[in-house]
Amino acid sequence: MTACIVCGGVVVREFLNLGRMSLANKFLTREEVDRHDEAAYPLVVGFCPGCSHVQLTERVAPPAMFDHYLYISSMSETLKNHLGDLAETMIGRLGLCATSLVVDVGSNDGTLLAAFKRHHTRILGVDPAANLADLAKQNGVETVTAYFGQATAQRLLEQYGPASLITSTNSFPHIPDLQDFVKGVDVMLAPDGAMVIEAHYLRDLLEQNSFDTIYHEHVSYWALAPMKALFARFDMEPVMVERLPLHHGQIRVTFRRKGVTPIDSSVEQILVEERAIGLDRFDTYEAFARNARSLRNSLATVLGDLMAQGKRVVGYGAPAKSSTLITFLKLGPNSIAYIADKSPLKQGRFTPGAHIPVVSPERLLEDQPDYVVLLAWNFADEIMAQQAEYRRRGGRFILPIPEVTIV
Ligand code: ZN
Repeated sequence: MTACIVCGGVVVREFLNLGRMSLANKFLTREEVDRHDEAAYPLVVGFCPGCSHVQLTERVAPPAMFDHYLYISSMSETLKNHLGDLAETMIGRLGLCATSLVVDVGSNDGTLLAAFKRHHTRILGVDPAANLADLAKQNGVETVTAYFGQATAQRLLEQYGPASLITSTNSFPHIPDLQDFVKGVDVMLAPDGAMVIEAHYLRDLLEQNSFDTIYHEHVSYWALAPMKALFARFDMEPVMVERLPLHHGQIRVTFRRKGVTPIDSSVEQILVEERAIGLDRFDTYEAFARNARSLRNSLATVLGDLMAQGKRVVGYGAPAKSSTLITFLKLGPNSIAYIADKSPLKQGRFTPGAHIPVVSPERLLEDQPDYVVLLAWNFADEIMAQQAEYRRRGGRFILPIPEVTIV
């Protein structure tokens, strides 16, 4: 039995078992493939009847996933623009100035903080990935290589003073020791400061069948209610909640210390909606698990038919989420010859588990395969616009999620 990471309750109920999977961001070199010693771990999601938090029931130690990280924020124009907008929005709302310190936890290559820097606030990145610190430095962003929690916060507080704003974009779902993390926020946040979290939203995940959001890095699948319960333990409260279209569905939650500012009506509205659609009920998740299995079967049928017709099928986009789809569908180099991806860090490597080679996107025009499975389906518009020439020459895309569609 697994204890809930939000409330400590001990009966997290499993609802979807995706099988054993290798770490989604661990793209292998040829040498590593040949070593045949790749680790795989069970991937199982459950629901806490005590606080409604959805979480993995088997967890992998963070250093195996985050000490060396291949996902880079600035690789996606959509994400880069979004983070630029986030900086402008928060500077306006909080009235940040040249003395305000903005701390970004999971700061990656410094894309978000570089945007704050253009508006002349003080900035500090915190990220456990040593390989990203140099990239951040090139972006002019000072980065501390560490996991954020009480001890790190104490050290940073002494060195830099309290933070006016702490941000966590796409990293909050990664954190297994949530109590230590929020304690760290409590230590470092100025009395009138704000914590802003952006994370994929459980409601969107359910409504879009996007079970490929589930992989080991994502320990949590957040709704507002359990997040509110977590921060309440440290006398902080959500004062505003926004739903964002990024990655096909995120929430942005702003927390302040209790009583600092009036609470926006969005908070109660979202909490009411979450209860109305059953985010606090186990049967909601049983239905989601059924949908995931049914989508897997549809996609397997489509790919099987195309292969029977002798069509050549490849993939586009090797984000972490592609590993879940590839594993759950039991795809391999025999069904998908290669995957094109813009990231030079992934090109020349092989996907975790299935060992499908990752190549540069130019390859699509060089050999014009019949179909491309859009594994990064959440960036469909951006990718299909970039690949207009491939489509003009008759190539077709298969969108796997929210339902199998050929365009
Ligand atoms: Zn709980």
